[in-house]
Amino acid sequence: MPKNKKACPRTLSGIRVRFAPSPTGFLHVGSLRTALYNYLFARQNNGDFILRIEDTDRTRYVEGAVESLLKILTTVGLRWDEGPMLDGKEKGKFGPYVQSERTKIYKKHAEELIEKGHAYHCFCSADRLEKLRETQQANKLPTMYDGLCRGLDKSIIAEKLKNNQPHVIRLAVPKEGSTNFNDVVRGAAAFENKLIDDQVLVKSDGFPTYHLANVVDDHLMEITDVIRGDEWLSSTPKHILLYKAFGWTPPRFAHIPLLLNPDKSKLSKRQGDVAVEDYLKKGYLPEVLINFVALLGWNPGTEQEIFSLPELIKVFDITKVHQAGAVFNLEKLDWMNCEYIKKMPLNELVKICQPFLVGACLEVAGQKLENIIGLERERLKKLIDFPAAVEFFFKEPRYDAKILIWKKSDQKTICSRLKTLIKFYDTFTWDWSEQWIEQATLDLIIKEKLENGTTLWPMRVALSGREASPGPFAIAEILGKEETIKRLKAALALLCGK
Ligand code: GLU
Repeated sequence: MPKNKKACPRTLSGIRVRFAPSPTGFLHVGSLRTALYNYLFARQNNGDFILRIEDTDRTRYVEGAVESLLKILTTVGLRWDEGPMLDGKEKGKFGPYVQSERTKIYKKHAEELIEKGHAYHCFCSADRLEKLRETQQANKLPTMYDGLCRGLDKSIIAEKLKNNQPHVIRLAVPKEGSTNFNDVVRGAAAFENKLIDDQVLVKSDGFPTYHLANVVDDHLMEITDVIRGDEWLSSTPKHILLYKAFGWTPPRFAHIPLLLNPDKSKLSKRQGDVAVEDYLKKGYLPEVLINFVALLGWNPGTEQEIFSLPELIKVFDITKVHQAGAVFNLEKLDWMNCEYIKKMPLNELVKICQPFLVGACLEVAGQKLENIIGLERERLKKLIDFPAAVEFFFKEPRYDAKILIWKKSDQKTICSRLKTLIKFYDTFTWDWSEQWIEQATLDLIIKEKLENGTTLWPMRVALSGREASPGPFAIAEILGKEETIKRLKAALALLCGK
């Protein structure tokens, strides 16, 4: 497909876009990005953002999927102007917004196409179609319907219909010429008609296919711009032919790039999570997911990476979306979540961390919890890591005695340091605060000619049970004097048997 001329950016009014997910079980991160780009485009043009549920493929329908979808969009802040609402009602004057409730509309439109000669009944059996496909494959031909029923006599059709012979309705695709359109992201696109299949519009169960329902709805709902994933690009000529057959003007199209795994394969479940709900469950913040997916396939052309939703509305530009697939980089997502966690007001962070602690049976509240979270937030990538990271504040840690030994030091030295610390804190009369513990301990190190490493390393490990943790004085303050001494004694017993 030639990728030269791009569609021009435009001055816009009356913009109407839609997010049209199929309720097949979960919201893919790629779909979240599609929803976001539509939302941003609508908001920056004072347009309408419509939610339409495309549930005509009943074999893929999953109970509860619509509700969970509405909840996620609400959680991440993508408010829609029209469509099904969480209270079970609908908003907007173009409804119903759920395709399974619109079957009569599609039927009427399919009949209209038959009358106009742009569609036809096809009675070919699944068996015949399978054989046809095999023969075409064997002859290295494109696999497509051969048009056998296209010229059927009206009386034969009437007879077959009268006998309730199973059938589908297909679009009569012109055999000559090409179908061209200008994609906002992909530029000029051209597809030869002779390679476009006579697609099925209505299936044998009477339900419309995606193509028919999608085009009819986009037209009736007065959608001006279709922003959707690249995987639909090859369907677009079929849609344009349908618009032409109906005598309608097609909307503008923008096909946004595929999401890829780091190895450049298509982002798949096999290589990690793809469901937005899984990321939320792990404690990636909703605003981070929005910020992160916004940058998959688009960037503002500056170094800035952190954007709130209102900022994105200001700077997002659909005409600057890239054509190349966008790599889903989990490390970057972790980094971004960490940045948000670091900057979030402490009381808010405490509030959103609490359910994760409760879930891990670590219940604590008040000032102590604030102190712990304040201390750990720098290290936190996602909220689900939080209980494990702070567990040692609540429970005596278990660890391997060997990690108490600082670098090239030895057991004897570390045992001696632990003893010195225990003795020192036993008689500690200063205020038990990070600042005073630090100052007094550092003075002791100088006075007794100890080294920082051989003293502070085992102290930190004794208190936290880990090699990486906040500093020993901050932990000691939160634990309290008694617990600090208790843990130092436990370390001494563990390493030195005393
Ligand atoms: N129902 C389609 C999907 O699941 C929508 C495609 C479109 O936006 O046209 O992605």
